[in-house]
Amino acid sequence: MASIPAVRTTPFIDGGFTAAGDGSETIRDPATGDIIAHVASAGGGQVAEAIAAARRAFDHGDWPRMPVFERGQILRAIADGILARAEEFALLEAVNGGKPITGARREVAGAARVFSYYAGAMDKFFGDTIPVSDTLLNFTLREPLGVVAQITPWNFPLLAAAWKLAPAMAAGCTCLLKPSPLTPLSTLMLAEVIVGCGVPRGVVNIVPGGAGIGQLLAEDPAIDGISFTGSTAVGIAVMRAAAGSVKSVALELGGKNACIVFADADIEKAAKSAVGAAFGNAGQSCSARSRLLVQRSVVPAFTEALVAELHKLKLGAPLDAATTLGPLISADHWSRVDQHVRTAQQGGARLVTGGRRPEDLSQGNFFLPTVFADVTSDLPIYRDEIFGPVCSITAFDRECDAIGMANASDYGLNGSVWSRDIGQALRVAKEVRTGMIAVNGLPSASSTSVFAPFGGYRRSGLGRELGMNALSFYTETKTVTVDLS
Ligand code: NAD
Repeated sequence: MASIPAVRTTPFIDGGFTAAGDGSETIRDPATGDIIAHVASAGGGQVAEAIAAARRAFDHGDWPRMPVFERGQILRAIADGILARAEEFALLEAVNGGKPITGARREVAGAARVFSYYAGAMDKFFGDTIPVSDTLLNFTLREPLGVVAQITPWNFPLLAAAWKLAPAMAAGCTCLLKPSPLTPLSTLMLAEVIVGCGVPRGVVNIVPGGAGIGQLLAEDPAIDGISFTGSTAVGIAVMRAAAGSVKSVALELGGKNACIVFADADIEKAAKSAVGAAFGNAGQSCSARSRLLVQRSVVPAFTEALVAELHKLKLGAPLDAATTLGPLISADHWSRVDQHVRTAQQGGARLVTGGRRPEDLSQGNFFLPTVFADVTSDLPIYRDEIFGPVCSITAFDRECDAIGMANASDYGLNGSVWSRDIGQALRVAKEVRTGMIAVNGLPSASSTSVFAPFGGYRRSGLGRELGMNALSFYTETKTVTVDLS
C-alpha cells in the first residue's frame, strides 16, 4: 500500500484544525482501491462557525484593511511554503488523485506560481477616474467582495484550491473552501501551510464534506459570493441556491471540447498534441479535447498517427516515474466511463483502440486509452462529457462544417484548430464559441498560464479565473463622486 505524508484530516476553522467532525469520508488510492485516510466532514454547526469566523475576519479583522503590499508578502510566503513541501504535496496528489507523479509535481509548482502571481497583482488592479463633468470628480474604488465560498472538484484538487484562494485572498476577501470529498487531502495540507504564513484567523476556512455542505454554503445569506468548479448540473443547483441571497456567482463547469484538424495541418504534431489534450489526467479534465474533428482526406493518416502516439503511453502506478496515464478517480467513475463506451458501441461508433480495462492492471480503476471513429453528431459520445480517456473522431468536409460541428454543443469551454493556412485557422478560432482556443499548439490543462483568463461560454460557466480577470469577481466597484463646486 502506498503511504502518504502525514496530514491533518479535520475541518480547518478560524485558524485551527477542529478536534473532530460530523461523520467522515473514506479516502482511497484509485490505483489500488486501498483506503489511505478518513477525513472528518464538517457538520452544519461547524459550517456555521466557519461562516461566522470568515464574517468576523472580514467585517472587523485586519485582512481586508491591510496594505495590499503586505497581503502580497503573505501570499508570497504561501507560495514558498508550498514549494518547501512540494514533494509531500505531489505524493498526496499522486496517491489520492491517481495522477502520474511527474504531472503531480508540475501541478504543485503551478499552484505555487498562482500564489506568487497574485502576490504581486493587487497593487496593479485599481479603479478609474471618470470625467463626468467640470464640477464633479468621479472615481471608482475596487473593494473586496466580502466573504466568499469556494467549491472545488476532484480532478485538480490543489491547483483548483490555489486558483480560488489566491485571487480571493489577494483582493482582501475571506474564504470558506469546500474540497471534493474524494480528494480533500492536499487542500488540508495547504491549510497547514497557510496557518504557518501569518494569515490572520478566519481568513481561510476549509470545510470538507459533500453536496450538503456545498448547498449550505450556496444558500447562506452571510456569504457574499460563491465560486464553483464542477459539473454543469451541480453548477446550476449552486446558482439556484445562491439566487435567494443574490450572491455573486462564478462557475467553471464542464466541457466537450473540439480539436479541429484541417488537411493542410502538421498531422504528426496535431496527433501528438491530441494525446496530451484528450488523455492528460486520464481525460478527467474539463478542457479535454475529446471531439476530434478531422478533414475527411486526412482521417486515415491522423487516426494512424494518433494510435501510434497512444501506444507510447504507459499506464501504471502513479508513483512510477515512467507512468504517463493513471487510473480513473473511483470505481463508480470507471463504471460511468465504461457505460459511455458500451453505449457508443451499441450506437454504431467504430472502436479503433481501447474500450476496456488493461489486462495487466486488474486492480484499481485503470481504463485503456480509447478512440472511436465514424462518430456521428447524434451519438451521446459526441455530445456528453465523458471525463475519461475516451475520444471520438468525426470527419468534416468544409471549413463551415467544422465550425458548425464544433459549435453544436451545449458547452463552450476550450478547443483547438490545426491548419498551416493562418487565415483559415484564425477564422475558425474567431467563429468557434468557446472561452479558450489554441491555434496549432498544445495548451492542455497542464500548460494553462496563470497570466491568461480561463473559463467558458454557455453551459461551461460564468466569469473567468486566473489572470487579472479573476480579481474582477473578488472585488466590488464603488463609484465615488466629489462635488468640486
Ligand atoms: P461535481 O459537480 O460532482 O462536484 C464538484 C463539487 O461540488 C464537489 O466539491 C462536490 O462535493 C460539490 N457539490 C456536489 N453537489 C453539490 C450541491 N448540490 N451544492 C453545492 N456543491 C455540491 O463535479 P466533480 O465530479 O467533482 O468534477 C467533475 C466536473 O467538474 C466535470 O464536469 C468537469 O468538467 C468539471 N470541471 C470544470 C473545470 C473548469 O474549470 N471548467 C475544472 C475542473 C472540473
